[in-house]
Amino acid sequence: MRTPVTMVAIAALAMALSVFATAQWAKQAGVDVRVEDLLKQMTLEEKVGQMTQVTIDVVSKDADGKAEPYGIDQAKLEKAILQYHVGSILNVVDYAYSVDQWYEIISAIQDVATKKARLHIPVLYGIDAIHGATYTMGATLFPQAITMAASWNPELLRQEGEITAAEARASGIPWNFYPVLDMGRQPLWPRFWETLGEDVHLATTMGVEYIKGLQGDDFGAKNKMASCLKHYVGYGFPFTGKDRTPAFIDERTMREVFLPAFEAAVKAGAPTVMVNSGEVNGIPGHANYHLLTEVLKGEWKFQGFVVSDWEDIKRLYSREHVAESPKEAVRMAVMAGIDMSMVPLDFSFYDLLLELAKEGKVPISRIDDAVRRILRVKFMTGIFENAYPEKSLKASVGSKESTEANFQSALEAITLLKNDKGVLPLKKDARILVTGPTANLLSVLNGGWTITWQGDAEDHYPKDKLTLLAAITGKAGKNAVTYVPGTSFNAVIDVPAAVAAAEKSDVIVACLGEKTYCETPGNIDDLTLDEAQLKLVEELAKTKKPIVLVLTEGRPRIIRRIAGLCDGIMMTYLPGMEGGKAAAAILFGDANPCGKLPFSYPRYPNSLVLYDHKLLEAFDGNTYNPEFKFGYGLSYTTFACSDLALSAKSMPQGGSLTVTVVVKNTGARAGKEVVQMYVSDLVRSVSAPNKQLKKFAKVALKPGESRTISFALTADDLSFIGLDNKRIVEPGAFRVSVADMNREFDLK
Ligand code: BGC
Repeated sequence: MRTPVTMVAIAALAMALSVFATAQWAKQAGVDVRVEDLLKQMTLEEKVGQMTQVTIDVVSKDADGKAEPYGIDQAKLEKAILQYHVGSILNVVDYAYSVDQWYEIISAIQDVATKKARLHIPVLYGIDAIHGATYTMGATLFPQAITMAASWNPELLRQEGEITAAEARASGIPWNFYPVLDMGRQPLWPRFWETLGEDVHLATTMGVEYIKGLQGDDFGAKNKMASCLKHYVGYGFPFTGKDRTPAFIDERTMREVFLPAFEAAVKAGAPTVMVNSGEVNGIPGHANYHLLTEVLKGEWKFQGFVVSDWEDIKRLYSREHVAESPKEAVRMAVMAGIDMSMVPLDFSFYDLLLELAKEGKVPISRIDDAVRRILRVKFMTGIFENAYPEKSLKASVGSKESTEANFQSALEAITLLKNDKGVLPLKKDARILVTGPTANLLSVLNGGWTITWQGDAEDHYPKDKLTLLAAITGKAGKNAVTYVPGTSFNAVIDVPAAVAAAEKSDVIVACLGEKTYCETPGNIDDLTLDEAQLKLVEELAKTKKPIVLVLTEGRPRIIRRIAGLCDGIMMTYLPGMEGGKAAAAILFGDANPCGKLPFSYPRYPNSLVLYDHKLLEAFDGNTYNPEFKFGYGLSYTTFACSDLALSAKSMPQGGSLTVTVVVKNTGARAGKEVVQMYVSDLVRSVSAPNKQLKKFAKVALKPGESRTISFALTADDLSFIGLDNKRIVEPGAFRVSVADMNREFDLK
């Protein structure tokens, strides 16, 4: 067995990442003086209040016990802030508000907090601005994360972060419950689309870039906001695929696969973290001292604060039964390392924590630590200087430039998976049948967290955005396009009418996929696409007309039965408000597709093998045989990679190697290609993945143009979590592969 070498290079990487974080926390010295000064003046009640977060319903007018969609109740607001000293409020009651409505809401809240409350501490308002400012009417709503990951273009994530921050700040909101850094390695999970895909390197790169855009180097700037990493950690890998169900992740896999994105994001300056709503190895996320305190706050020296997820502290008692009373649940959670409770519908956390503190069951030092962390972040968001919405940003909400950036993001993400017999691009004079349940809805393009939580309030969607049908009709003209729904998501509507219309058409565009959903309501029992939709394509195929399948879905629903019946397959994922327009641009060849799958698209529901599988998963009859592989995606031009070369045959400890490869556009159209570099560790003490993505670059090339791409490979890229659960490198042979070429070298 080879001797492991503990990594010096890891420290070097941490240093590099923390340069950015240092800038973020640079103000901290000054901030900490202010924090201590304020903390000294606070009563226990005021401290516990800072740790309490309620939802806006709690301070809203209500009719018959149900919060009204819009309207602050002054008496309730004063009770929350003056009597319970709440430090944070979140969410909307039902629907997104206009910028002006936000202005009124935030102003009303901050008027009480900063003018009437004893210590004038502003409220930290938080929102799930997960693909743009979700809850601001007219905001730029980007493709969802899984789609953004398919662009393989980190610059687009940075832009999304920048635009989101400005539009949320225009609404007076300085705190975003995003990015999701759960790994997309369980395609059944209904929050799969909130992730940046199955690969650690891709998701980490994209996530960190988003944070840089959102926060800049000072999230207290008037057009920046604080991020919240979620859901720490392991939430996205439920064994059954159902939301909020147990995950089983050993310490080594946790450190190899699930923790790195969070660690990199903490090092990049993310100031808050939200907790896993489920459980790992029998320990609920909200009671996990090891992960919250030992790893996050201890090993990584995280200076920000940890917020619970919705109602999840209570659930330690009511659901997991690891606490014998609601009060014990509060004690467990706070002692595990949670600093703020998203209670969020009452003040029970406040009452119980106050009792616990008075009884000495939660030490004041723990409460002080939590409040310090919260105040630190509050100071850093700049709300002590200005707690009110930034009026000058109003004009930028949904601006032309942001809309264009949104459109470009969708264009770069949409992925062409099959194009036989030159079925695409569509001819503009073709007679086209558009059919299927995703053809004529904006909600399906956007998914959850769009205007409402479930994203299904179709009537509230902007009237000027284009569905797939509207965008296709816009390109081909009304006379060329026939629309017959065929089916709903899971039931037949008028399949014979669709078949009859197909007979009179030159090509069929079948728009299939998923209705919008979010969290637990999106649970499914079968990854296979709904029977009605599969049947629709099977019936249409009998006409022998060419079929282009356009998939709009948040997770890869199995299409094996119909994939062979379609000449073209295009994956739009959840492409956002400009997704219809972008899909049509690609269908008609006005744009050249360049997205690549950020996950393995399974062929069978019980064969969910990932691209970085262990060797024994593809051995002796086992196979990695997905419908489409991770990293796959076609273009209307062709590319060739050649001349893969290494700068040396061996790498010294702590050294590096340069990998070069030539990529050429060998076709007739300009296009973009993603050069993907994988590394395999050929022998090591803990069984290795067959290969792992280590570097990638997206390159724009004109016809005939070629470019040499070089990647610096360091010992860190060769590291793994060893037998003792520590990160190490082991000397020996490694293989680098790009496209179908590979080269070997030795690490000394
Ligand atoms: C979700 C979180 C979200 C929170 C606040 C929870 O149900 O799990 O992702 O940030 O609600 O809306």
